Amino acid sequence: MFNEKIVDPAELRHWGGKVELYWIYTSGNAGDEFFKALKDDGKFISAKCKKCGRVYFPPRIYCEYDFSETEYQEISGKGYVRAYTIARLDIYEKPLEKPQIYAIIDMEGTDGCIIHLLGEVDEDQVEIGMEVEPVLKDKSERRGDINDILYFKPS
Ligand SMILES: [Zn+2]
Repeated sequence: MFNEKIVDPAELRHWGGKVELYWIYTSGNAGDEFFKALKDDGKFISAKCKKCGRVYFPPRIYCEYDFSETEYQEISGKGYVRAYTIARLDIYEKPLEKPQIYAIIDMEGTDGCIIHLLGEVDEDQVEIGMEVEPVLKDKSERRGDINDILYFKPS
C-alpha cells in the first residue's frame, strides 16, 4: 500500500518480479539549441543573462541567480584545463592500450565548463591552465550529441 508509513526499517519489504520503466531524456530547449548548433554548424552556443551578465555553458533558458531570461551567443569553443585525471583501465577494469585523459575545461567567454577527453597530447604534457580547442567529428557523422566532440587538443 502506498499510504503505509514504515517507521521500522525491518518492516521494509519488496515485491518480486520486474517493473517496466520507460523514459525519454531530453536536453531541454537550451540543450537542443546547443546540440543543433554543434551538429549543423560545428559551433558552440552559450547563454548570457540579460540582467546580470552571467554566461551559461552549457546554455540555460533562464538565469538561476535572478531568474531573468538569457540570450544565446556563440562562443569560440576554446577552453582552459581546470583539472584532469588519467584513466588507465577501461570500464571492465582491463588496462587501456593508451591511457585516456579526462579534463574539466573552463570554456572561454563563459562562466561554465565541460568535462571531456583530451587528445593529441601525452599525459606528461598536460598542464593546468593549458589552452585547448575542440576537435569535432566530420559533419556527416555528427548526431547532435556530446560525442560529436571527439576530444579537445592543445591549441
Ligand atoms: Zn542573471
